[in-house]
Amino acid sequence: MLEIIAVYYLCKKNSQNAKARGRKGSGAVAYTIALWLGFEFVGAFVGAFVSLILGSDGEVAIIYVLALLFAALGGFIANTISKAGPIVQDANSIPQVNLQPLPNQPYNPYQCRICGHINPSDSLFCMKCGTPLNIVQTQ
Ligand SMILES: [Zn+2]
Repeated sequence: MLEIIAVYYLCKKNSQNAKARGRKGSGAVAYTIALWLGFEFVGAFVGAFVSLILGSDGEVAIIYVLALLFAALGGFIANTISKAGPIVQDANSIPQVNLQPLPNQPYNPYQCRICGHINPSDSLFCMKCGTPLNIVQTQ
């Protein structure tokens, strides 16, 4: 039961990681489960092999522990895959910069076109964000 919860959260996390990088969340869920179960199966196989060699009484425990260890390794690999690649920003989530002067306001060359801050009339750069102001210098 605990294992199902762990896989569930790992799938959720990997799905978010994949989506943040412009990939499908369902794909991340698929390889997370596949890697977890695949490694768990290999772990159980190794555990069975080890207990055969040792001929020990605790063979079920060895199989179980190795299966879980391998499953966790599979989960770790799936998580690493889901985190590969740069995070892509959704075009809609990038704030749009308003380059136009606000309506009903006269054009002010000292008003920053990026942040809207109105600067003193002798400034060349926005005092707030450092953007060069559109000022034609007359000498
Ligand atoms: Zn500014």
